[in-house]
Amino acid sequence: MGKFTYFISDLHLSAERQDITDCLMTFLREDAPNADALYILGDLFEVWIGDDDLNPFTQFIAQALHNLSLTTPVYFIHGNRDFALKSKYAKLAGLTLLDEQTVLDLYGTPTLVLHGDELCTRDVEYMRFRKKSRSRLWQMFMLSLPLSWRRRIANNGRNVSAQNKQALSMEIMDVTPSEVINTYERHGVMRMIHGHTHRPDIHIHVINLDGVKKDATRIVLGDWYSQGSILKVDRHGFELQQRSFKKSAN
Ligand code: MN
Repeated sequence: MGKFTYFISDLHLSAERQDITDCLMTFLREDAPNADALYILGDLFEVWIGDDDLNPFTQFIAQALHNLSLTTPVYFIHGNRDFALKSKYAKLAGLTLLDEQTVLDLYGTPTLVLHGDELCTRDVEYMRFRKKSRSRLWQMFMLSLPLSWRRRIANNGRNVSAQNKQALSMEIMDVTPSEVINTYERHGVMRMIHGHTHRPDIHIHVINLDGVKKDATRIVLGDWYSQGSILKVDRHGFELQQRSFKKSAN
């Protein structure tokens, strides 16, 4: 075991962005097998219209993740773009699906991991959409539509569905500080890791745990638009790393 753990999010993989896929493949082949585990904290895919949308691209990604999962556990938390990813694809890709807010024991430090969109409560319209779209009934309805319809809805997001517009505007919105504090205190943890905002950074928040003021750490993962962004955590601490897209595969 490597005695460290990797976290990634917001890759926004699509067949159109071979550079992102190449960077991920190099990471999965050269780095990830050395880790105790890999956690993918949402928005692995740019869009996910259902597990029945299997194509050469999604199968290729599934196979690469599945290969890694044979030696290194791979965990997945849904993002706002791939929340419709279900157990069928998870099984194909060797992913273990986690609850949207999960507390891990990371080398002795209880750590909350989440995608992070639920922290952006100032986007009232999105929060309303989020609530609706995460309901069983709404998902059953959407997933019952023919694949071609769902593809069209996803492609014509601008004029067909307000959901995509909201997904776009939301990504420029940062977290609500009070919601961050509430979330720490609700889970009783002093460290959280999330993505979504595409603002990689380390933040310290003063929180109140059992009547005692403490400094809590919030680690924000970076996106993969122009480079790979990786968080490495071990018992001594953590490091936000980058991987260049230009690094050629071997
Ligand atoms: Mn997101």
